[in-house]
Amino acid sequence: MKSAKDNVELISIPMVVDVPYRFAAGKYMTRFLTELRDNGKFYGIRCPLCNRVQLPPRIVCAVCHVKNSDWIELGNEGTLVGFTIMYLPLTDPTTGKPHEPPFAYGSVRLDGSDSVIDHFLNVEPVVEHIRIGMRMKVALKEREDRVGDLGDILHFDPVT
Ligand SMILES: [Zn+2]
Repeated sequence: MKSAKDNVELISIPMVVDVPYRFAAGKYMTRFLTELRDNGKFYGIRCPLCNRVQLPPRIVCAVCHVKNSDWIELGNEGTLVGFTIMYLPLTDPTTGKPHEPPFAYGSVRLDGSDSVIDHFLNVEPVVEHIRIGMRMKVALKEREDRVGDLGDILHFDPVT
């Protein structure tokens, strides 16, 4: 049996809504991003119970639920733990500009950290030329061009 609402014509209006936004980085991310911008250094934070070093730093360990307060300076080299070859443009969230394919994108665990940074890899985007376990080094923008976000990282270069 049909009700009155079954006879209502639904008209939709497609649109794309652009909603730029900003949010406060917070105390820990502010310290992390300030060190990255001003000194080109990476700082993680160690959990006092499980000793995991999180990067970017988090106030509370997600495993132990205790406050982290032990800041650890990390190096700018690490190990590739995962990657993909992108064949579609990826919009850079910090610039809004597409990164033209094909390109390599990967997860690098900086030495001394238990978490990874996902970023562009400055390697030929061919699977046979990339391997898990490759040593990678961070390439940063020049100091005068850094603004205090993860876009201050240009990419990872292979260590040769
Ligand atoms: Zn913990």
